[in-house]
Amino acid sequence: MDYKMFLIKYAEIGTKGKNRYVFEEVMCKRMRARLKPLGDFEVRREYGRIYVEAFSDYDYDDVMGVLGTVFGIVGICPVKVVEDTAFDNLAKEVVSYVKEEYGNKQMTFKVGARRNDKSYPKSSMEINCDMGAAILDAFDNMSVDVHNPDVMINIEVRNVAYIYSKTVPGPGGLPVGTNGKGMALLSGGIDSPVAAYMIAKRGVEIEAVYFHAPPYTSERAKQKVIDLATIVSGYSGPIKLHIINFTDIQLAIYDNCPHDELTIIMKRLMYKMAEELALREDCQCIITGESIGQVSSQTSQSLYVINTAISELPVFRPCIGLDKQEIIDISEKIGTYETSILPYEDCCTTFVAKHPVTRPKLEQILKSEEALKGKLEGLYEKAMNDIQIVHCR
Ligand code: ATP
Ligand code: MG
Repeated sequence: MDYKMFLIKYAEIGTKGKNRYVFEEVMCKRMRARLKPLGDFEVRREYGRIYVEAFSDYDYDDVMGVLGTVFGIVGICPVKVVEDTAFDNLAKEVVSYVKEEYGNKQMTFKVGARRNDKSYPKSSMEINCDMGAAILDAFDNMSVDVHNPDVMINIEVRNVAYIYSKTVPGPGGLPVGTNGKGMALLSGGIDSPVAAYMIAKRGVEIEAVYFHAPPYTSERAKQKVIDLATIVSGYSGPIKLHIINFTDIQLAIYDNCPHDELTIIMKRLMYKMAEELALREDCQCIITGESIGQVSSQTSQSLYVINTAISELPVFRPCIGLDKQEIIDISEKIGTYETSILPYEDCCTTFVAKHPVTRPKLEQILKSEEALKGKLEGLYEKAMNDIQIVHCR
């Protein structure tokens, strides 16, 4: 069937009281931006609902794919539009709709009519009854169940009539831009793009930072992070990616600190720099891909010691309680997995010690960091003032 219209269902944003308008508008704007390359569409709010209407040919799967990336949408219903709403014609169109969608399927149904046009000759109840009778007449394989129907056939009568019965699930969440902005620490791994996606799903706009250590990490490793940010931007909207050259700082740590503490001290500096950048860019949170116990720098003790490098902002770690396989499942679903597993080096793994500490003590780490006194000053400012920016979309 060629659908000219889609009804967009959204759940949580409906609960936001007087902010509802803002949430809906943000979601519509995002839908318009995503649909634009696919044809001529109008996204509009009408009678407290959101509709997409097509004014050109389009590819059904592409449109469903794109709407499936807009957070806030919980369901997409393809709608058949009937211009002539006279009951006999409407009944004929409903029967042909049911035939095309369900054919000979053995099933129960219920008709749910809504009438915005109060001058229509039948009440909603009458439409329910008479349309039910018309469907029963036309199909031997269908019966009515008003309590628990297999299929709910919705009919909305206005100046035209809308018929719909199927809902394709959307991604859920909240529209991006309704919950501030976060700075995601993006490595080339599996976890951090998933973390950025999960926080974007709650309505948070995303910026990202990647610590690059050439020549120890290659241009290909950097490109991989750009590619991952671009994939995530398909859901979150454009991502401003900040690339910080971390090489000199990393070498200073390597030359001055105990090697079994390298990862911890490196991470602490990354966090500190990320927070400074986040505050500079008006972000209210930092996002990382850690999961408790996954590696030595993600034990509770390590997370505690690393976290103290942050002075102000909350760190959101949406993967913290997920198993690796659960994180992989999400990365496959959102399309980052194949890129994440490309085997390019990360700066944290290049300098990793054979036996890194798994239970660092904060006092001990602070003591080790004293060896860096006076050695980072110029380097830190240089790195923070010389950031490469890539706009990923
Ligand atoms: P990922 O799969 O996201 O790379 P990981 O399990 O490899 O994570 P770590 O290397 O311990 O974990 O890093 C923990 C978190 O620190 C990452 O999820 C990411 O948010 C951040 N991070 C690590 N390396 C970098 C980097 N080079 N640039 C920016 N952030 C990084
Ligand atoms: Mg990693």
